[in-house]
This record gives sequence, C-alpha cells and structure tokens, in this order.
Amino acid sequence: MTTVTAYAAPSATDPLVKTTIERREVGPKDVLIEIAYAGICHSDIHTVRGEWGPISYPQVVGHEIAGTVTAVGSEVTLHRVGDRVGVGCMVNSCRECENCLAGEEQYCLNGNTGTYASVDRDGTITQGGYSTHIVVVEDFVLRIPEAIPFEAAAPLLCAGITTYSPLAHWNAGPGKRVAVVGMGGLGHMAVKIAHAMGAEVTVLSQTLSKKDDGLRLGADHYYATSDAATFTELANTFDLIINTVSAVIDINAYLSLLRLNGTLVSVGAPAEPLPVQVFSLFGARRSFAGSGIGSIRETQEMLDFCAEHGIASEVEVIAGEQINEAYERVLRSDVRYRFVIDIATLA
Ligand SMILES: [Zn+2]
Ligand SMILES: [Zn+2]
Repeated sequence: MTTVTAYAAPSATDPLVKTTIERREVGPKDVLIEIAYAGICHSDIHTVRGEWGPISYPQVVGHEIAGTVTAVGSEVTLHRVGDRVGVGCMVNSCRECENCLAGEEQYCLNGNTGTYASVDRDGTITQGGYSTHIVVVEDFVLRIPEAIPFEAAAPLLCAGITTYSPLAHWNAGPGKRVAVVGMGGLGHMAVKIAHAMGAEVTVLSQTLSKKDDGLRLGADHYYATSDAATFTELANTFDLIINTVSAVIDINAYLSLLRLNGTLVSVGAPAEPLPVQVFSLFGARRSFAGSGIGSIRETQEMLDFCAEHGIASEVEVIAGEQINEAYERVLRSDVRYRFVIDIATLA
C-alpha cells in the first residue's frame, strides 16, 4: 500500500478536508497514475452528501481524472511510463456478462465498478480523483491525445463521454437538428460535440445569459425556455434532444419539440420521477430515452474525436482548498463550465 494525499468528505454534512488515503500496490495488470487535474462533477456532490444513497466515510470523489503514468505492472501492455492518460467514471466491470462481452461495460449486468464509492474487486471502497495518485487496471485507462491539455481533457472523461455517447448512438450529424437542454458542464460539451459532428445545434436554456458563449461554442440557435413562445415556435423541430438538466423539467413540453421519429435522451439525473404523458409520444412516434456515460472503447473514440476537431472543455482551474467553495458555486450553476482541481496544489 502507498499513502497519498487527497481531499475527502468526512461525512455527509462536513466540508471536504485534506487528508491521506491508501492506494493498493501496483498489481501485474495495474497502472499507477500521477494525477495532474481532476474535474468537479455534480455527481461528486450528490455522492458525498449521501443524496444518491448512503455511503461510507471518509470518501474521496472525482471521476474526471487526467495525469501521467508513473509505474506499470509486469503484465501491462496498453500503457507505458510517461504516457498521458485519463480515468473516467468506472475502473472495472465483471467482463463476462452479455453487456460486457458486447463492449458496453458501462451497462455491466453485475454493476460496473465506479471510480469512487463503489465496492472494488478486492472488497475495498474505491476512492476517486481528488488525490495525487490512483491505481487502475490497465484496460480502464484511456489515452489522452497530445493535442488536449490535461486540465481541458479531465472533464471529457465524464461530461464529454456522457454527451458524446448519445449523440453518436442517435446519429447526430449533417442534416440532423439537435437541441441541447441546459448550458452547464454537460450541456456545453454537448454543443461542441454535436457541432463538430456536423449537426444543426440549438441550445434551450432557462435564460439568454449564456447565449454569447453558446454561439461561440458552436450553437446555431439559442432560445430561452422561460419564454413560452419558444415552445410554440419550435414545435416538431428536432431529431434529437439531449436533456442535461438534473432538475425536474416539464418533459412533455420538450417532447412536443421532437419531429417525427425524434428522440429525447436524458443524461441529467433528477432524484424525482419525470412524468411522461404517453400522448406526448403518440403524435409523432417519439421516443423518450436515457443514456449513461459510455464504454471504454467509445470514450477513447471521443477523446480522439475531440483532439481531431480541436475541442475540449471550458474550465476554471482551482486549488484544492477551493473545492468546498466550488461546490457551492456548482449548486448555483455559477461556473463556466467545469471546475478542475490543480492536483499540484495538494502537495
Ligand atoms: Zn460525472
Ligand atoms: Zn459485466
């Protein structure tokens, strides 16, 4: 075991504090990563506060990890010391269920092993990326292309893949009208990626306060959902709507914006149900779907796509001691568009 510095939540209600945690020895198939940056995802906050169910403490979160390989196990073939790498929302899966064998291990029927607050294969609780180092089995480690700086790459490992996967699955591209609901950490990446895929992109945001940013990041149109006229003007318009909002919205109003055979995909996760009127679907053979992160293969494809198209996350870099303040700002949607912790400040 190796002792490393980290920021951990001591309980559901206390602020995160600087502490130390143990990382396992590098096994034959493991990679040791010196973390350079870790993104702050809304899920981190839900998790440490016990809002998605009880967890054990202390808990280190963070599943948007970018850094450098500093050691590899004897049987590792995919990564070498010095490689630029990333780790996202999962660090393992059963590898034998139908979904794992299909290369969709994010949907592992036995539950993928989350990067934090999850029971690891050795029975310990996984600890995430707000930490100087992490040990991860090699096939759950991604290659970060040279073209993407570490701090802008980190959020791609969750916010990037969570939006890339449904955009790719539902064939966003030339001739397709895509709407993105919400202009936060996920939404701003959905705009950039959908635009890079060649789709016509519309942002649906509560207000027009981020309109300039939205257009700069690749949106063709930008509408305020607080204006009821938006819903009449855009009725029957979109092939695909990516809903990134994790609060309850009037889902039937958004479904009415889909054209024939259109799909609304939720990637934001409100704790409460979203009541769907089936009549909202009948009228134009619409679908209401969900999508969770993406596979390792697809995450690599997303990183390579972003490098090729010169896109990455818009970030605000902070020091470790600013994490608690950053959490409050995330809850107020006061971030453009992702906080990323400079892990060098933990030393
Ligand atoms: Zn996340
Ligand atoms: Zn599985």
